[in-house]
Amino acid sequence: MSDLKNVVVVGLGFAGLSSAKAIAAGLPATHRVVVINEYNFAYNPPASLRAATVPGWEDKVTVPLTAVFPKDSRHVVLGGVKVVQLGAESIKLEKAVEGFGSEIPFEYAVIATGSSYATPTRIAQGAETEADVWKTLKEFQSDVKDAESVLVVGGGATGVEFAAEVASQHKGKKVTLVHSADRLFAHKDFKSALGNNLASQLKKKGVKIVFNSKVDPKGLETGKIPKQTFALSDGSSVEADFLFIGHGWKPNSEVVSTLDPALINDGGFVRVTPTLQLKSAIGAYDHIFAAGDVNDVPVRLVPSSLRSPSPPFLPFLSLRDVLEPPDESRRSKKLTHLSTTHRR
Ligand SMILES: Cc1cc2nc3c(=O)[nH]c(=O)nc-3n(C[C@H](O)[C@H](O)[C@H](O)COP(=O)(O)OP(=O)(O)OC[C@H]3O[C@@H](n4cnc5c(N)ncnc54)[C@H](O)[C@@H]3O)c2cc1C
Repeated sequence: MSDLKNVVVVGLGFAGLSSAKAIAAGLPATHRVVVINEYNFAYNPPASLRAATVPGWEDKVTVPLTAVFPKDSRHVVLGGVKVVQLGAESIKLEKAVEGFGSEIPFEYAVIATGSSYATPTRIAQGAETEADVWKTLKEFQSDVKDAESVLVVGGGATGVEFAAEVASQHKGKKVTLVHSADRLFAHKDFKSALGNNLASQLKKKGVKIVFNSKVDPKGLETGKIPKQTFALSDGSSVEADFLFIGHGWKPNSEVVSTLDPALINDGGFVRVTPTLQLKSAIGAYDHIFAAGDVNDVPVRLVPSSLRSPSPPFLPFLSLRDVLEPPDESRRSKKLTHLSTTHRR
């Protein structure tokens, strides 16, 4: 059993990784970072749609856990295990892990459990190893290649990106994008010029865009489908033998809800303060942070994040401020202060 105090980071996406590295860089020798990730590797969602369409990219989307900390580091990454419960001072794992057991106490925690999307933007169900992921992506690439006609539902980031990847990789393939609004990237955070520009680029690549229309994918999932005709709400129709559903994104906030369901907002996101601490009515959880897609910071994509810090970057600011003040004397004071005031 180690005497080191734990700063626990749950989840190893961009938010977990940047938090873990930033915290480890300034942590006193009395503490260590313990990262816990559901899989034995990290996954890079922004690379996933190219990896799902362009052969040779499948193994560029996963990152081994050994890349997180140097070999001789006191910080630890526990891969292939899920956190199932968050307490005020410890987390519970779905199974016992050597050297830790099934409950890990912490002085600080960062919950960076991210969000769920359909595969391939997140790891396919049933895939457990990097090799499983690469195999799934290769199958996806070959299904896209064999498809005669691809239907993309939704003109947000993933729909637009997937349509562009397919049209670039398979020139001449029929690709139709159906979008419910009158412009791509219709969210109010984005200027109309962005959507218009993307539409014109897609059209140049041969993608047909149907605006102001909806399609019901009839319970089907992203992937190869029996060839069929989909009726659109504007009265037109599209024939397709490959479907990509570009919506259905949801935050993975279950772990935080085990601490207190009131910490979750109506959209399923974790309520946080401007410094990403859990926002409870009595400030009971100032030592627990939620970073990345899981929190309720409204801005989630690069254009807006450049205007105001977004989840992948904010952990650097907020956690550094708490854990890594400029000089050693202030650091220990601040840690002592926090560790004695946050407990109830
Ligand atoms: C095609 C595409 C392009 C994108 N392009 C951009 C871009 O250009 N710029 C940008 O800023 N964003 C982009 N994004 C969004 C970006 O990928 C996400 O904002 C980012 O991945 C979120 O990171 P995260 O760490 O919060 O969560 P995730 O990447 O979802 O990682 C969460 C991790 O936590 C693990 N986890 C979940 N629950 C548990 C648990 N209970 N126990 C243990 N581990 C758990 C998961 O397995 C996962 O490893 C893009 C997304 C896609 C799909």
